[in-house]
Amino acid sequence: MKISAIIVAAGKGERFGGNIPKAFFPLNRKPLLAYVLEAFNQVSDIVEIIVTLRSSLMGEFWEKQMGKFSLVKPIKLVQGGETRSDSVWNALQKVDRESEIVLIHDAARPFVTLQLISDVIEGALKWGASIPGLRVKPTIKEVNPKGFIVKTHDREKLFEAQTPQGFRVDLLKEAFKKASSTRSIATDEAFLIESQGGRVKVVEGDEKNIKITTPADLEWAEWIMHRSSS
Ligand code: C5P
Repeated sequence: MKISAIIVAAGKGERFGGNIPKAFFPLNRKPLLAYVLEAFNQVSDIVEIIVTLRSSLMGEFWEKQMGKFSLVKPIKLVQGGETRSDSVWNALQKVDRESEIVLIHDAARPFVTLQLISDVIEGALKWGASIPGLRVKPTIKEVNPKGFIVKTHDREKLFEAQTPQGFRVDLLKEAFKKASSTRSIATDEAFLIESQGGRVKVVEGDEKNIKITTPADLEWAEWIMHRSSS
């Protein structure tokens, strides 16, 4: 079986605490993206890794940041679009024609495990679409623009969506084509399927598979790394 992995790293406002784009922010002197590429590089059925990037980061910057990491799988760099969905759509055009499954993962989730990747692949093969989800622990309130609570959601039914998200390639491409107007509001790929009435299977997520968004997340990530290496 052939699988393609798309790593999304073309966010625009990806600067925190300096002028390095978030995907290249160093964690223990290694860019976040390098952890991700190394993980996906170890999965035998993955035939290629497609990275969405801003064009300014492609040539010299990419070589300088990533050149020293020896990765066996072919890496394709694809120019990102205006929104996350636009970036994924651009990458989908470059997916190997023989790939059956495509995985999409955030560059800012460096602790993705081989187990999680494998669970998502299994879910995607069985159900066509599968994502990792974590049960939410706090009580979640919906608040109106004036700051008043509108609703308390039943947390028994709520899950936090993680990546990698896995899909049959044909199913995801079809969903993208049908979703032209809702595409811009999608913050993940599962939305495109579920909003069209399609089924997406949620598999058990991983608490350590955090998304690094703020400097505080990076400190948390350093702590996780330190603890797992000691
Ligand atoms: O904005 P958010 O944190 O949800 O972005 C999730 C991921 O999508 C990030 O890894 C970001 O680099 C990527 N992205 C992209 N192209 C965009 C916007 C976001 O590849 N136009």
